[in-house]
Amino acid sequence: MKLIIDERRCKGCNLCTTVCPYNIFQEGRKLNERGIIVPILDRPERCTNCRLRKLYGRQLCGACQMICPDQAIYWVEEDPYSEESVVIEF
Ligand code: SF4
Ligand code: SF4
Repeated sequence: MKLIIDERRCKGCNLCTTVCPYNIFQEGRKLNERGIIVPILDRPERCTNCRLRKLYGRQLCGACQMICPDQAIYWVEEDPYSEESVVIEF
């Protein structure tokens, strides 16, 4: 699974930066073409949902998606990350 922020929906409120236990969401620095500063993702392969959703067959954690007021956070069925190589950091 790959974590995505939909830049067409995000309004840059940064609520997502407050909830992730891994601090994957970081405040962005650049305006996009809509004049919004969208958060950036720091090593999103650490996301619980990215790593374990396939194993458990359901969504795990999901705090970022639940708090986002604009439904701008979702996952896609890609697996570009090697699960064996993920280092868990807090
Ligand atoms: S699902 Fe949880 S671990 Fe994954 S990015 Fe969102 S808040 Fe962080
Ligand atoms: S909570 Fe949603 S709308 Fe707010 S910055 Fe994060 S992705 Fe964008």
